[in-house]
Amino acid sequence: MKIICVGRNYSDHIEELSNQKPENPLVFLKPDSSVIAKNQNFIIPSFSDDIHHEVELVVKINKVGKHIDNSFSHNYYDEIGLGIDFTARDIQYNLKEKGYPWEKSKAFDNSCMVGKFVNKNNLEDISCIKFTLKKNNELVQTGCSSDMLWKIDELISYVSQYFTLKIGDLIFTGSPSGVSRVESGDILEGFISSERMFTLKVK
Ligand code: ZN
Repeated sequence: MKIICVGRNYSDHIEELSNQKPENPLVFLKPDSSVIAKNQNFIIPSFSDDIHHEVELVVKINKVGKHIDNSFSHNYYDEIGLGIDFTARDIQYNLKEKGYPWEKSKAFDNSCMVGKFVNKNNLEDISCIKFTLKKNNELVQTGCSSDMLWKIDELISYVSQYFTLKIGDLIFTGSPSGVSRVESGDILEGFISSERMFTLKVK
């Protein structure tokens, strides 16, 4: 199983980090070892002082495909979930500055929280999926799939030009604004509409 992540897919988040809008989706991978095991906490790694949460809609691929045409993308997923792309922002800034790959800041152990999934047919409107993240009961991130620069179908088509998609692969579709540092003791709760998708404790 592989995890394909999309960066800079929401204008408000591009602005909050003073990044440039990319010409094409910005893509990076996380290994399967980055996934937090069920019912486990997120443990802040010793190598970073600035771990950020990025809440993101997650698409679960349900069949093998490559070079998928945009008009067929919807056949490649049934379920949508919510997750957190944890990012060691301090390390990422250093790597970005040097033009180095981001993996140490994005793909480390436990950097990937995957919550519950729902069937896309149970969602009211797939083009407008509203999601939120609460930190210690305070709303910190709000997003809607309608604000994505590249929509789910476009992302599936784009990434499948480079990577064969396999059953169970996950696509993290990018974070809206509101990313912030996590601290030991924080409780993170993710919702799609009013449905709770995960609760995660930071240690
Ligand atoms: Zn992200």
